Amino acid sequence: MLIKRDDLLHPPDDLCFCGNKWRKLKYNLIQAKAAGYQQLLTFGGAYSNHIAAVASAGRLFRFTTTGMIRGEEHLPLNPTLQHAKEQGMRIHYVSRSEFRRKREPEMLRQLEERFGPAYVLPEGGTNASALQGVQELVAELRAQTVIEARTYVAVSCGTGGTMAGILLGMAGQGQVMGFPALKGDFMEGEVKELLASEGASWENWSINTAYHFGGYAKYKPELVTFMADFAQQYGIQLDPIYTSKLFFGLFDLIEKGAFEVGSKVIVVHTGGLQGIKGWEERFGAGGST
Ligand SMILES: *Cc1c(COP(=O)(O)O)cnc(C)c1O
Repeated sequence: MLIKRDDLLHPPDDLCFCGNKWRKLKYNLIQAKAAGYQQLLTFGGAYSNHIAAVASAGRLFRFTTTGMIRGEEHLPLNPTLQHAKEQGMRIHYVSRSEFRRKREPEMLRQLEERFGPAYVLPEGGTNASALQGVQELVAELRAQTVIEARTYVAVSCGTGGTMAGILLGMAGQGQVMGFPALKGDFMEGEVKELLASEGASWENWSINTAYHFGGYAKYKPELVTFMADFAQQYGIQLDPIYTSKLFFGLFDLIEKGAFEVGSKVIVVHTGGLQGIKGWEERFGAGGST
């Protein structure tokens, strides 16, 4: 098993602008600068890695940032929003029903009227420029190892954008396995749609819905144990929302003999370590609830 350490991809001393969020923001930031925007505006939940990343990126590249956060304000701010605020992000809370309208042109027009011209990033940061950035991960993989028919690239899924970007980069080579961190069977459709939006229809992929542990930010004691053991044994910290579920799933599949002899499994560590503090705050350090 090889691990692509995108968790190490971040500016010095800032774990928030990291991993797949770094990949997904890169070309968006270049485009926003080129088009003369001075503000980034985006959407997310109160513990969102994407929100934390946009706040960091804004500070680093001199954009003002506005975060539309789903739900009500809870004080004191959780570590994610505290970080966002420290980076200078303006935080606005929107009701769940309002939040659902985030893609409507009328809603975006109103936001622009209220906050001024802004380069708008969707929730989770998935758009065409994000897919472009993620494809560079595969170019790096090709320089680091051989990708062939029995090469599996495994990745955690939220919106499916990272998985779709990897598939575009793989261009039909090897196999890509997605492990959703959310409950439900919508991920296959999302990935298909993202591929179609780029004129692609690759079929060398699968979605494994057996390892979401009850849904987004849900967990079970064995996941917490797994995460701690993994850190101790390999010296690599996983995050409780995405990557621990991914590695747990893979270890389980390997144990069950799901991979034929001669397979190469490449796991993408997408980062997400900023989320640990907030998670510990909610569930107790080490998840000892
Ligand atoms: C956001 C995130 C994901 C999900 O990425 P998508 O492109 O939305 O599927 C996976 N892992 C980590 C650590 C993340 O922060």
